Amino acid sequence: MAHLLPILVPTPAHSKIHLAGGMLSWLSEQALPPGTLVRVPLGKREVLGIVWDRSAEALDTPAVDADKLRPVTEALTALAPLTESWRQLVDFTARYYQRSAGEVALAALPPALRELSGEQLARRIKKTLRAGTRPSAADPPAQPLPTLTAEQAAALDTLAQRDASAPFLLFGATGSGKTEVYLRAVQTLLARDPQAQALVMVPEINLTPQLEARFVERFGGDAVVSMHSGMTHPQRLQSWLAAHGRLSNEGETANAITSPVRIVLGTRMAIFASLPRLRLIVVDEEHDPSYKQQEGARYSARDLAVYRGRLDNAQVILGSATPSLESWHHSRPADEGGRYIRLAMPSRVGAIARPDAPSGGLPQVRRVDMRHQPKGAVFSPPLLAAMQERIARGEQCLVFLNRRGYAPVLHCAECDWKSECPHCSAYRVFHKIDRTLRCHHCGYTERVPRACPSCGSPDIRPIGRGTEQIEEHLAELLAHVRRPDSSRAGTEAAATDGSPVRIARIDADTTRRKGELEAQLAQVHGGEVDVLVGTQMIAKGHDFRRITLVAVINPDTALFSSDFRAPERLFSLLMQVAGRAGRDSAAGASEVWVQTEQPTHPLYEALKRHDYPAFAAQQLLEREQAGLPPFSFQALVRAEARTQEGAQAFLNAASALGQDMASPLAVMLYPAVPMSVQRVANVERAQMLVESASRAALQRFLSQWQAKLHALRDAPEGQGILRWAVDVDPLAI
Ligand code: ADP
Ligand code: ZN
Ligand code: ZN
Repeated sequence: MAHLLPILVPTPAHSKIHLAGGMLSWLSEQALPPGTLVRVPLGKREVLGIVWDRSAEALDTPAVDADKLRPVTEALTALAPLTESWRQLVDFTARYYQRSAGEVALAALPPALRELSGEQLARRIKKTLRAGTRPSAADPPAQPLPTLTAEQAAALDTLAQRDASAPFLLFGATGSGKTEVYLRAVQTLLARDPQAQALVMVPEINLTPQLEARFVERFGGDAVVSMHSGMTHPQRLQSWLAAHGRLSNEGETANAITSPVRIVLGTRMAIFASLPRLRLIVVDEEHDPSYKQQEGARYSARDLAVYRGRLDNAQVILGSATPSLESWHHSRPADEGGRYIRLAMPSRVGAIARPDAPSGGLPQVRRVDMRHQPKGAVFSPPLLAAMQERIARGEQCLVFLNRRGYAPVLHCAECDWKSECPHCSAYRVFHKIDRTLRCHHCGYTERVPRACPSCGSPDIRPIGRGTEQIEEHLAELLAHVRRPDSSRAGTEAAATDGSPVRIARIDADTTRRKGELEAQLAQVHGGEVDVLVGTQMIAKGHDFRRITLVAVINPDTALFSSDFRAPERLFSLLMQVAGRAGRDSAAGASEVWVQTEQPTHPLYEALKRHDYPAFAAQQLLEREQAGLPPFSFQALVRAEARTQEGAQAFLNAASALGQDMASPLAVMLYPAVPMSVQRVANVERAQMLVESASRAALQRFLSQWQAKLHALRDAPEGQGILRWAVDVDPLAI
């Protein structure tokens, strides 16, 4: 007898199947359990699908026409079915972020799975298991472990005593040893439960090698796999299969999942890994915007981690020196309504050995009032002097500027021409190294003109500066300075007859090719570099041991941004970059220099005291008064069209259709406005904000409104629309 199976398939957004949640029915001779992967015919193609649960909504859909039903082509039964909690995670993500379950589920699987037949897959599974990745049942680590600091021990004690019912916020200063806490928490778990799995997430691909090295050192290579978008399809498949485990065909455990790899490290995509025995989720640098996916289902991997922890009864640890204001607010005392448990580690590891160290061993913050410095100086004289002194002592400096290229704009003094991108409402950036003007939005690149393209004047000049120019400028300023030769580093005499200063720049331009970033970081770690110039790429996570001075050249612009999250981002970025200084306790006092025209701004005052709680309290007060998140909940609808009027007309029509549903739910619909970069690659972009004091009300409104938005595509207002999407809990407004 044939079985009628509900199956999720990948659905193009806005198709009819998409509206049904991506679920269709197929026939199968076998009764396949939910979670089984299948290959099914869809139109003229054959696609990968997943047998799904028969949801209440699906029962409402009109009876399927039995004549049109087609059989499943193949069931991939070599693979254990995806678990119920994984399916619930997918269903929740689709519902919450207003996408179809089919889209979310299929995007969550490794792409290589789409191409494999059942037989090929079975071979792959065998090979993966032979290649290792079996549970190395918490073998005691070979090397001696560091003695925990009192703060680490206290945090781990609390983690051990509590169950998984509330997430933890590990609020630990940079260099307080958060990673060691993660390692121990994982170790305890693996020892306690011989099958348990841990998921450890970091915000960026380039932080994974360092993390992977530490986990492999501690637990052995067989216990760890990585998952991020920088891996090839076969590599991703291999990690995925290892984490998914296999079906046991032995004795009493027959058909149960066994032997999944114990530890998965990854970026945001790893939140959807199949982890049948997940018991611990760590989200390191939980405040980082990279946890938010910016296309397709615009999910927050951090928020999904909290949800998944509840589904799987897994402990969740969110770690940061500068938590997101949302997480910080959730970790307020329980009697004030907090739901997360806050674990504080305010001191740096090294400082504990030196109780006299100021501010917990964190670097001293010095503000330079740029209004009282020589006009046009990029580096103020006192900062330059301090850097020279560090270099002469054989110490490293880090110069931070969050803007790559040579200059953000090229300008003609004669006719006021500027290097606008013809396709975007943005300037093209001047890159001196290959003499190009490059648009950082659409990629449009041209050679730098010799004369003004508008009036022919040869007097065209860069305005403003990027990392490339800073590197060039520093080389001039430091040309006369000598670094001590390595054999004599640190000695007084060395400074007089050393070698020239070495400057390195690390940003997206210098690390384009595979392996370049690793090579450059190795040079910094190896002491071959005296001054490191870079963007936020070097601000995060890296455990530089020899940097004792960090200089922030020009952070003020973010103080005046229209985005209400700009101060939060600036503060955390400055704390992160400051955290790169003085990480070696053996080194002397370290410093962070901030060049600013607003030295008494409360943000810099809080930075000077390394006082995140004070900064957060002030920001939360402002947000509460203004009714902004976390005191309200937002969604953005974005639309793209050939004309700005077209994009806005679509959104305003959508708003009109939603008004009746929004009012009773106390949901506010704002008028459509152009996006901050209004035109990219000749596409006009507009957005409209939807806001409510209640998350549930916003969710209810969005799900009711969804069908109307889809229908609007076929109305006259929808004709010129190229794309539209809902972004729930958007990070940038
Ligand atoms: P965070 O992630 O909090 O910025 P890390 O985990 O990178 O800090 O730790 C900073 C440095 O301190 C690392 O080099 C780490 O190996 C070292 N460390 C951490 N815990 C200890 C400890 N208990 N004893 C000695 N060194 C430690
Ligand atoms: Zn001109
Ligand atoms: Zn462009």
